[in-house]
Amino acid sequence: MAATSVQAQQQQPLLGFGTEAAKKELDLEAAFDKQLQANNLRDWMKRMTAFPHQLGSPYGLNNALFLRDKLASWGFDARLDTVHVLFPTPKVRILELTEPTKFKASLTEKPLKEDATSAQTKDVLPPYHAFSANGDVTAELVFVNYGVPDDYEELAKLGVDVKGKIVIAKYGGSWRGIKPKVAYEHGAIGCIIYSDPKEDGYFQGDVYPKGAFKNESGVQRGSVVDLPLAPGDPLTNGFVADAAHKRLSVDEAPAMMKIPVLPISYGDALPLLKALGGQVAPATWRGALPITYHVGPGPAKVHLKLEFNFDIVPCYNVIATLKGSEFPDQWVIRGNHHDAWVFGAADPVSGAVAELEEARALGELVKTGWNPKRTIVYCWWDGEEPGLLGSTEWVEKYQSILKEKAVVYLNSDGNGRGYLGAGGSHTLEKFVNQVGRDVTDPEKGTSVIERLRSRTILNGTPTAKQEARSRADLRIGALGSGSDYTPFIQHLGIASLNVGYGGEDAGGDYHSIFDSYDHYTRFKDGDFAYGVTLAKTLGRSVLRFANADVLPFDFSNFANTVQGYTAEVKKELEAARTKAEDHNKVLGEGRFEAAADPKDPFVKPSVESVAPYLNFAPLDNALVRLEQSAKAFASASSKFSTLPADKLKELNEILYKTERKLIHADGLPRRPWYRHQIYAPGFYTGYGVKTLPMIREAIEQKNWKEAEEGILRVSGVLEGFVGEVERAIGVGR
Ligand SMILES: [Zn+2]
Repeated sequence: MAATSVQAQQQQPLLGFGTEAAKKELDLEAAFDKQLQANNLRDWMKRMTAFPHQLGSPYGLNNALFLRDKLASWGFDARLDTVHVLFPTPKVRILELTEPTKFKASLTEKPLKEDATSAQTKDVLPPYHAFSANGDVTAELVFVNYGVPDDYEELAKLGVDVKGKIVIAKYGGSWRGIKPKVAYEHGAIGCIIYSDPKEDGYFQGDVYPKGAFKNESGVQRGSVVDLPLAPGDPLTNGFVADAAHKRLSVDEAPAMMKIPVLPISYGDALPLLKALGGQVAPATWRGALPITYHVGPGPAKVHLKLEFNFDIVPCYNVIATLKGSEFPDQWVIRGNHHDAWVFGAADPVSGAVAELEEARALGELVKTGWNPKRTIVYCWWDGEEPGLLGSTEWVEKYQSILKEKAVVYLNSDGNGRGYLGAGGSHTLEKFVNQVGRDVTDPEKGTSVIERLRSRTILNGTPTAKQEARSRADLRIGALGSGSDYTPFIQHLGIASLNVGYGGEDAGGDYHSIFDSYDHYTRFKDGDFAYGVTLAKTLGRSVLRFANADVLPFDFSNFANTVQGYTAEVKKELEAARTKAEDHNKVLGEGRFEAAADPKDPFVKPSVESVAPYLNFAPLDNALVRLEQSAKAFASASSKFSTLPADKLKELNEILYKTERKLIHADGLPRRPWYRHQIYAPGFYTGYGVKTLPMIREAIEQKNWKEAEEGILRVSGVLEGFVGEVERAIGVGR
C-alpha cells in the first residue's frame, strides 16, 4: 500500500525537470540509493570516535586526513583548507563553596566500564565553556532559573539583585551563551551553569549506563562566544586574518564573554543549591533535585577561579569537489562538521559519516559515466563546536567567490532515529517536501514526509494540525543559528537547508564524554538505518540541485511564510500594547501593593511604555507584490524547462541569487555581521530564530522608532526580491 502511494507520488512532476529529464533523474537517484551501505557508517563512526577529536587535537587532524584521503580515492579533488583561529582551553578550574559549609566541586566526569572510551584521559578537554573570561571571584550565590531576561524580571519582583553576585543557572530555556551574557548585563561577576535532572537526567528516564539520560557526573561543555553578535573567530569577525587584516587582542574582542562561566554536573550543583537560603524559588523554576529550591542570595558563598590558554590553532576544513560538466561556476555546497567536544558520536560524527557515504555513492555514479552539470562541493568543517569557526572563516575567506557561485548550502549536524527535521530558506520549502516524498522511512515504509505529517496531525499546535491536513506542503522551520549554515545564509544570503532525523532517540549525552560510539549504538540509531536515510535525503537534494534544468526554487511558500511572520509581529505589537495598558491601569489603582504579602519584600513595579500604532502599509504593499509575482512565476514556470540553453543559464543565475536580495549591507542594528532581514538568531535566544528580526526585536525591546525603521528596511528588501522574481519571469517569457 505505502509503496504504491509513494510510486504514485513519484509520477508527479519533479521541480526543475521536464518529463524526460525527470525520469532520468529518478533512475539516477535509485542507483544512488542502491549504493548506500549502513555498515560503512558504522565502521567510520567507530574509527572517527576512537579518540577525542576537538579543534586543535592530534586526532582531529588525523580524522581530517582520513576524510581527505577517502574522498580523493573516490575521484574527488580533495584537500585540507586550513585557517588559524583562537581556541581557548582551560588551564585552571576551581569551584568551591566557602560558606556556610565547605565543598569542592569535582568538575570531572566519572568513567564507566560500560562505555569503552570514557576512561581515556589523553587529549580529553575537561568540562568548560570556550570563550569564558579569565577570573578569580568570590561572592554570594543567586539561583536565576534559566537565566533569561524574564527570569531577572521575576527576581526584581522578589527584590533580588544579582549585582556583585555569582549566579547559578540551569541549562535549557535558551542557548547557553545567553545566560552569562544576561547575568553580566545585570551586574553579576560570575556564572555557573548546571544540568538539572529535570531537563535531561533521571526525571526524564533511566540514567547512563542503564538508560540514555545524564548521570550525576555528566556535564555539557560548550561555547559561550556571543554567537548572536557574530560567529567565527572573535578576533576576526567579518574577515580572515592576513597581512591586510590584523587580529584583535582577546581583551578587545566584542564577542568574548566578559565574566568567568563554568558548566557543572547536577552532582556538583546539589551542595551549592542546598546551601542557598532566601525566598523559595517560584514553582516553575524548581527542578528535580531532592531539595527545596531557594533563590538566595547567600548564605551560600562560592569561589570561582578560571584561567585559560588563549592559543591560535590550525583549523582543518576538508573540501572535496566534483567539477560540473555544464556549469562549473555554479556550486552546490554540502557540509557537516567533523570536530567534536570529546568523542562526538552523535554530534557530529553521525551526520559526518552519512555525508561521507553520500560522497562515496556519488563517486560510484561517476564511475558509471555520470557527471553532475553543476559543481558539487562537499565540506567537513573543523572548529564548529567553539563557535562555527571553520565554516565561518571559510565563508569569509572566499566570500567574493561564494557570492557569485554558491547556488545552495545543504547542512547536517548529527542524526538519530525518528522523524524528518528540516529548516531553511522558504524558497526551498516545496523542494524539501518533494525530496521527503521520495524518501522512505526505514521503520514504517511510508515516505518520511507522510510520517512527519502524521505526527504533526497528532501532536502539532492547533494551527499546525489543521495545516497538515489542508496545506499541500508541510512547513519547514526558519534558521536561527547553532550550526554551519549560519555564515552561508545569515552573512552572504545563500539559500540554505539544515536536515536531520530525530525524536525517537532522546538522551543526556550532548557535549559530554558519554556522547560515544557505545551510547550512540545503544540508544540512537544502532543499525544506522536513519543514517542511510539522511544520506538518501541530502544526497538526493545534492543530485537534484546539481542536475536540474531549472533550479528548484519556488516563491509561493516564501510569500505565504513572510505574510505569516508579518501577521505575527502585528499581533505581538497589539499584545504588547494591551499588556502595558493593563499593567499601568492596575499600577495606578494601587493593586500591586494591596495584593502583596506583607511578610515578603515588596518592590513597586514601574510604569511601562505603551506601544504606539506603527505604519505597516509599506510592508503590506510589498507583500501584495510578492504574492502576485510568486503566482506569476509559478504559472510561467511550466514552460521554463523548454527554454534555450543561454536563457536557462540567465534564468538560473537570477534564481539562485534571489536570496542575496534578502540581505542588507548594513546588517541588523548593533550586529552588522548578521545581514539577513527575514531570519536571524535572537539576540536573547541564541540559537532560536527571530523572523523579521529587526521589527520583532525592536517591538520586544520597546524600541518603537527602530521598529518603524525595520518595517521600511524589510519592505525595501522584499521589493528588491520581487524585482528579481519579475526579471526571472521576463527571461522565461
Ligand atoms: Zn554539532
